Amino acid sequence: MSGVVLDGKKINQEILNELRPRIAALTATKRPPALAVVLVGNDPASQIYVRSKVKTCNDLGIRSIEIRPSENITTDDLIQQVAPLANDPEVDGILVQMPLPKQIDVERVMSYVDASRDVDGFGMQSLGALVLNRPAPRACTPAGILEMLKRYRIPIAGKHAVVVGRSDIVGKPMALLLLHENATVTICHSRTRNLAEECSRADILVAAMGRPAMLTAEYIKPGAIVVDVGTNRLSNAAEVQRVFKDEPAKLASFEKTGTALVGDIDPKAMKELASYYTPVPGGVGPLTIAMLMANAVELAEAHLLQ
Ligand code: NDP
Repeated sequence: MSGVVLDGKKINQEILNELRPRIAALTATKRPPALAVVLVGNDPASQIYVRSKVKTCNDLGIRSIEIRPSENITTDDLIQQVAPLANDPEVDGILVQMPLPKQIDVERVMSYVDASRDVDGFGMQSLGALVLNRPAPRACTPAGILEMLKRYRIPIAGKHAVVVGRSDIVGKPMALLLLHENATVTICHSRTRNLAEECSRADILVAAMGRPAMLTAEYIKPGAIVVDVGTNRLSNAAEVQRVFKDEPAKLASFEKTGTALVGDIDPKAMKELASYYTPVPGGVGPLTIAMLMANAVELAEAHLLQ
């Protein structure tokens, strides 16, 4: 038996296509939605993420304003650049790409990202609104996962959902969103005892740990819906061989590039046991960017149409 793939790329296209007429309407009557993207330093992964976000903005007709302070900027100097954006009538969303360099006080910087421009949904006001189930931008990765489950008409109410990971940007908001959909939610983390036992009770299992292929067959209840948020790059040949021993295409690609992408869930076990599952790549990643765009358009509508 092989589970049904939850196709993040397809949902990404659906969401983006639904945004196009809304962006066109704003552009025709007011101005295009505008997203300020703050990228500090030269972290290669962050550069790739930002490039892809800016490209999606360009494709959709969302204006992107790139702000690129140097790696060694101080917290005060960064605030000098971020704070004015919160009152800029030409800016709808502010995205501060994480992680920030070690010397930066992230909380202080983020406190200048006003809720009305918090496109990532990471700020205290947005997270507080999520706890209370009130409207505010939702963190993009968990919001995208929920949107995907709904579009695949996967029932959530009454289901036992297990979220592994409790970060403020993925695990915690995911658990709250599932709770608001009336799932019975268990949150697991690095101190959880008997993780396999907890996970194997999940009707809906969401893994967001950053631990390559850690959740193997004994963690997955047969027929579960499995969402793999983890994005781990492997460069160790033995590990790649262990995870992808039955996938010649992956092994061949590793031979060429020296790197392979894997989630937190063993891909073979997930495919064999889950009723629905998200592949890595092509599952959760495309949803995150689609929801970022959706948040930007919603903030622009709130600024321009009210
Ligand atoms: P964090 O490192 O902030 O959080 C990881 C969480 O996993 C922590 O709560 C930690 O527990 C828990 N954890 C770590 N190891 C274990 C373990 N052995 N057993 C149980 N729990 C464990 O990561 P993020 O939430 O930011 O991201 C998680 C993963 O998702 C990463 O691989 C990241 O790359 C990926 N990601 C993918 C996105 C996408 O768009 N596809 C977007 C965002 C993230 P504790 O709190 O106790 O330390």
